Amino acid sequence: MANAFVPGRIRLDPASQHLVEARARLLGPAYRLMYEEPLHFVKGEGIWLIDAAGRRYLDAYNNVTSLGHCHPAVVEAIRRQVGVLATNTRYIQEGILALAEKLLATMPDELGHIMLTCTGSEANDLAWRIARSFTGGTGIIVTKTAYHGITDAVAQFSPSLGASVDLGQHVATVPAPGDRGAEGPDGFAEAVERAISELRRHGIRPAMLIVDTMFTSDGVRSDPEGFLVPAVEAIRRAGGIFVADEVQPGFARTGEHFWGFQRHGVVPDIVTMGKPMGNGHPVAGIAVRPEVVAEFGRTSRYFNTFGGNTVSCAAALAVLDVIETEGLQKNAILMGQRMMARLSALSKRYPVLSEIRGAGLMIGAEIRDGARPDSQSAARIVNDMRTAGILISSCGEHHNVLKIRPPLVIKAEEVDLFVDTLGQVLENLNGAAA
Ligand code: PMP
Repeated sequence: MANAFVPGRIRLDPASQHLVEARARLLGPAYRLMYEEPLHFVKGEGIWLIDAAGRRYLDAYNNVTSLGHCHPAVVEAIRRQVGVLATNTRYIQEGILALAEKLLATMPDELGHIMLTCTGSEANDLAWRIARSFTGGTGIIVTKTAYHGITDAVAQFSPSLGASVDLGQHVATVPAPGDRGAEGPDGFAEAVERAISELRRHGIRPAMLIVDTMFTSDGVRSDPEGFLVPAVEAIRRAGGIFVADEVQPGFARTGEHFWGFQRHGVVPDIVTMGKPMGNGHPVAGIAVRPEVVAEFGRTSRYFNTFGGNTVSCAAALAVLDVIETEGLQKNAILMGQRMMARLSALSKRYPVLSEIRGAGLMIGAEIRDGARPDSQSAARIVNDMRTAGILISSCGEHHNVLKIRPPLVIKAEEVDLFVDTLGQVLENLNGAAA
């Protein structure tokens, strides 16, 4: 992970140092902390995270809590349900049905069933199992810097985990839309066609093309709308299915549309979702075309101890209600436009901020030095923003794209604070380079 804390590189205050050592001792070596100087939060409140010293940070990174941290309606829904009944999908319950109806109402009619999991990784794992059973194929096509999760099967089609995690033999990667090898409006579809041929040459039948419909870990590739259409047609012609990973773009983040795939005018065979679905409570799942899951359902039984439990369903229902009653999709459009316009203006003053991409409140700002991706400056900016009290991160193959995903409840003055702070950070970066 870029921008990760490296033990020993900087001096921490004694309390933080003590906790960092305890983490290493108790949790072992696989966890990472964000930022050169890690953060210790003790409270979340709306758009703010508050650290142990009482300092408030504007959270423009954590898209899980997209209604704002500790939204009272979600807190109350969880509290009420856990005090009445916490049980699983082996019993008849009304909450899961209300949730499925509400979710399906946000989707095209072709998507007829909802299945629930606890994490996005599990949702993609389930999608993969269903894709295999429906198509009889085993080949997977993903983008070069895709992230889809952590199970053994899903890690094999998550190249962004790095060279030390093996991609399966059955996995073909394609460049992110707009990158070399996938330029122009049809470039991505042509890359998918080439990947299909490559799989076939190795005797592998394609089962699915899976993409994050905003290509978040590939550096946010939003435009032109519709570029997914010929790619989806290509995978279907080859006998595979199209899986839209909506773990990042879903739940109104992209503004105009509730789901990222709707920006492209395609109807996926499976939609996977998670992250903001419970505003911090673990709940995730898939929507699927009935004909795609029919064979899987005939041969496999699906039970997930916590997936679809009564409490998770209550949390997810509350999230959908709040998005509607607080008009958050509209707010994502308006605040997204404000953010994009102000960032674009900033990019005229600071050429290092070379391109602003995105939709709604899913925004990527590319950092370049001339034509060269400038990962070093991107890391500097992310850490300097943290020092200035604003949380973002970076993404993309070269980690040179600022990943900006504030809660959908962000207000105009908070957008302005964000952009003004970024302006100051860029000004200081300029000064340091001079
Ligand atoms: N898909 C995408 C696009 C994601 O960004 C993530 C998480 N970052 C996942 C899947 C996996 O979700 P989880 O961490 O809940 O397993």
